[in-house]
Amino acid sequence: MARLEVDRLGVAKVALPLLEGVSFTLEAGETVGLVGESGSGKTLTALAILGLLPKGLSRTDGQVRLDGQPLDRERARRAVAMVLQDASVALDPVATVGAQLEEGFVVHRGLAKAQARVEAAKLLEQVGVSDPARRLTQYPHQLSGGMRQRVLLACALAGAPQVLIADEPTTALDVTVQAQLLALLARVRDQRGLALLLITHDLGVVAQACDRVVVLYGGRVCEVAKVAELFDAPRHPYTRGLLESRPAPWGKGAAIAGTVPRPGEDQAGCRFRARCPRASPECAQSQPPLQGDGGHLVACHHPLERAP
Ligand code: SF4
Repeated sequence: MARLEVDRLGVAKVALPLLEGVSFTLEAGETVGLVGESGSGKTLTALAILGLLPKGLSRTDGQVRLDGQPLDRERARRAVAMVLQDASVALDPVATVGAQLEEGFVVHRGLAKAQARVEAAKLLEQVGVSDPARRLTQYPHQLSGGMRQRVLLACALAGAPQVLIADEPTTALDVTVQAQLLALLARVRDQRGLALLLITHDLGVVAQACDRVVVLYGGRVCEVAKVAELFDAPRHPYTRGLLESRPAPWGKGAAIAGTVPRPGEDQAGCRFRARCPRASPECAQSQPPLQGDGGHLVACHHPLERAP
């Protein structure tokens, strides 16, 4: 049984669908990358899992299950944690690292303040923050970008979650710090048996850190595959476009022409059709179902050939 199961999730803003039929699974000890251009619905998927949709947005369909049981907001608060995109914004600038980190132990684990401080220092050490006792007294602006990201990760781990969602955790970090942070995420996942959902637009991060990939386009899943399979033989034209848009020597450096459709635009049929070199009249008439075997799923009427 999957640790987390997202099943036909739908989200809308009034009558405008923003996510439609989003389905994927996440196992304990596994890292799944959620990829796609800006506006594809990656962060919205995470917020819907957590039951924290912005005002004006509502769930229209589907279920999220944790260990086979429906995940309501209260259960999500205890079992799922999220590392937000930008640590310099996500951390409270007027509260010390200690105050922010200890809160997780007090609220989620019911510890007394003194015990929470001891546990907070231990956790900072586990995520590679040097001199934890001193760091607890410091404010976020006194830390480097990489250190802030580690503090944010510690805040997410304080509640002992079963699922960790990391939203673009390496953006704005230099490559060395990025590699260190990805290694840290993998270590924490293995030590705690976490299921890790890694939201990113960076295919280099996916190649480095993920076991499987879910590709989103226009609020729909267009391909799901193991990382090696997706990079070697993508089956959805959008996935191939993403891979080819990487700079040489990995890709051709050729951007996909056009832009992601706005909510409500190209809703009937395949939402990628305006940008797709393989589009046919059928693609405008019916939405391709997500199907396949061996764990490689694709939503396309004319998918690319399988690997030999
Ligand atoms: S369904 Fe049609 S338009 Fe959509 S990706 Fe496949 S070939 Fe292209």
